[in-house]
Amino acid sequence: MRFTNSCQTEGFDGMVQYCTSCLYPDTKPDLSFDDNGVCSACAAYAAREDVDWDARRGEFLDIVAQYRSADGSNYDCIVPVSGGKDSTYQVIRLLEVGMNPLCVTATTDALSDIGRRNIENIKHLGVDYVEMTTNPVVRRQINHLALSQIGDISWPEHVAIFTIPIRIAVQHGIQLIVWGENPQNEYGGPASASGGNTLTRRWLEEFGGLLGLRVSDLPEVADIEKRHLIQYTYPEDTDLARVGVTGIFLGYYFPWDGWTNALIAQAHGFETAPQFVEGSLANYENLDNHQTGIHDYFKFLKFGFGRATDIANNHIRRGRLSRADAVQMVHAHDGKFPWTCLGKPLDEVLSDIGMTIDAFNRICDQFTNKRLFVVDNRGKPVRDANGNLTLADSGYGSES
Ligand SMILES: [Zn+2]
Repeated sequence: MRFTNSCQTEGFDGMVQYCTSCLYPDTKPDLSFDDNGVCSACAAYAAREDVDWDARRGEFLDIVAQYRSADGSNYDCIVPVSGGKDSTYQVIRLLEVGMNPLCVTATTDALSDIGRRNIENIKHLGVDYVEMTTNPVVRRQINHLALSQIGDISWPEHVAIFTIPIRIAVQHGIQLIVWGENPQNEYGGPASASGGNTLTRRWLEEFGGLLGLRVSDLPEVADIEKRHLIQYTYPEDTDLARVGVTGIFLGYYFPWDGWTNALIAQAHGFETAPQFVEGSLANYENLDNHQTGIHDYFKFLKFGFGRATDIANNHIRRGRLSRADAVQMVHAHDGKFPWTCLGKPLDEVLSDIGMTIDAFNRICDQFTNKRLFVVDNRGKPVRDANGNLTLADSGYGSES
């Protein structure tokens, strides 16, 4: 069985083009550049100026009115919640407009203490809440397999955070699911007055972006029995259609900003970390899962940018950080070897999934895009005393 090897960038000529406005490189999947060298993520943000946000808010109010239970006999919607700043913000927004959501958590891989406290905080906003935990023994097997085969330890989490709320929607007969930001920005207002926009299994599977590994592959490639994969499986289209399950992204109706979401969430009891999360430029996100640092590190190995770049770019686009200052900050924090993950030593995080640091390092080398990093004369990526790689081209263009 072959999997998508995302570190091989088709047509890549060894030189990285960076956006002239933010710090995204052209190695980022699905990113394009205009004639001025501005990336499509910056262009999408700039297009927000043309949005009539008052009108969008009106659309949102129409939708929630449409789905609000007339007699209070069922929940008005499902909100998938991780306990993070965005899901806390989603619940706050829905409670503000009088919705009665059922909050659903797909238990994360290696939940941190602060992550648990933030989940408890969401409950205390005043909502009913369900947490579905998949078999942790099988989960670790899948974490190990996904890290080894596709360089993504978080693959089962990314599956389950979509499948579990949708399964619960079908089981409870709840039509509306309210997600946060739409990472693909292509699924604007499905639950519009036109109706008939129920989710399909095919859309959900494509939306997941699962790097060529499918849940249905697991019995064959990992000898994991189908009976252990129930929660990773989408309901059938007939069930989705029978209930009329649909979804909206709150980021379509409100101008999304993780930083202000965190401020609003904090005002409602959300707890941040005492310092930046390792490899990031923020203390207000990715606080719940000790494996996320590994996930983000592999993004850096494959594409040459990590979470610090994402955070810096969000601030640049909103005028809160100059590109030149962002370059300095990203140099200092992005893509550092994840010796600790939310304060937990790497060997402990790995031992939870039955992996040694030596085995981890071999997988790192396997998924490192060698054309992006300084290599020795045998083509092996050069690590410094702290285990860190050096980008071969980290000039971020002449503008910086
Ligand atoms: Zn950009």
